[in-house]
Amino acid sequence: MARVHNFNPGPAALPLAALERARDELIDFRGSGMSIIAHSHRGKEYEAVHDEAIALIRELLSVSDDYHVLFLQGGASTQFAMVPMNLLPAGKSADYVITGGWSEKALEEAKIVGTVRVAATTAVGGKYTRIPKQSELELDPNAAYVHITSNNTLFGTEWFDFPDTGKVPLVADMSSDFMWRKFDVNRFGLVYAGAQKNVGPSGIAVVLARKDLVEGGRKDIPKVFRYKTHADNRSLYNTPPTFSIYLVRNVLSWLKDQGGLDAMEKANREKGRLLYGTIDENADFFRAPVEKESRSLMNVVFRLPTEALEEKFVAEAKKQKLVGLKGHRSVGGIRVSTYNAVSLESVQVLTTFMREFAKANG
Ligand code: PMP
Repeated sequence: MARVHNFNPGPAALPLAALERARDELIDFRGSGMSIIAHSHRGKEYEAVHDEAIALIRELLSVSDDYHVLFLQGGASTQFAMVPMNLLPAGKSADYVITGGWSEKALEEAKIVGTVRVAATTAVGGKYTRIPKQSELELDPNAAYVHITSNNTLFGTEWFDFPDTGKVPLVADMSSDFMWRKFDVNRFGLVYAGAQKNVGPSGIAVVLARKDLVEGGRKDIPKVFRYKTHADNRSLYNTPPTFSIYLVRNVLSWLKDQGGLDAMEKANREKGRLLYGTIDENADFFRAPVEKESRSLMNVVFRLPTEALEEKFVAEAKKQKLVGLKGHRSVGGIRVSTYNAVSLESVQVLTTFMREFAKANG
């Protein structure tokens, strides 16, 4: 089988080693005579996988005992609702920093639950090309929390230095840049990430939640939506998506074998250097709309001189097995998603193609 160079924004490329392991264990999991999918979530075989996945997250990110590591269903969008349901009590307000379409969606959900403020927005005519500076944030010192989107998947902007929110807990949607590098979890009250970019398949979210916030969370919401319910039950309150968590385990164990998050960061920075370098060297043909210091290392967004050339670019790239390059429908242009499982070689093939395309069509 000829595998393609997959630059999809999510669901996205997964490491071949993690998929091969799943293939090998699919029918007969470790000599148990049945698939991992068919094992009980209360049985020792599955529980070992579940605990290993949690332990790998703790180890790779040095997550302290002050935090719960949870696997929750419903992807990142469910977290848009669960965060305010748990952490935004009546009489309090939450601050949202708006840097793209996903922060807009998070804000919309929070508005349904309680009182919210926009602490900053970088929207200009419905488009976002940068992350705000600390001095632009109008933070409420009494807010229940401050919410940011650490990487804006659609617009290709990323926070490299997280904001200082003082005593107010910082909550981050890290769906599209979770585990591309190490970060200090202790700076956050809560972090959530849909798994389908850097760590696994779609449908689940990884949540890192400070224990005191979980304990103090609202009790006037259905039990199944309380972080505390899932924390008290090690994410085994109800039947979890066992196969998805199994795959996350495979991806994280691959990540550890590669040298962990330091190795990931090095590779991701090199991929970004190559891509943005190619764009900047051909600035008469490619145009990156994002301000330099906000350029995402996960989703590299750029335009060509015309939409017709962008279509031709996507079609010709596909013939060379370079797929998933079309920009989001709300943004247009080209988007190259270069999550952990996208190899440096794939990016090299793409940048060679980009230079040739610019030369032939410029
Ligand atoms: N937040 C961000 C930053 C995303 O990129 C996405 C999905 N692309 C979501 C939230 C929504 O995730 P899900 O589809 O898992 O609900």
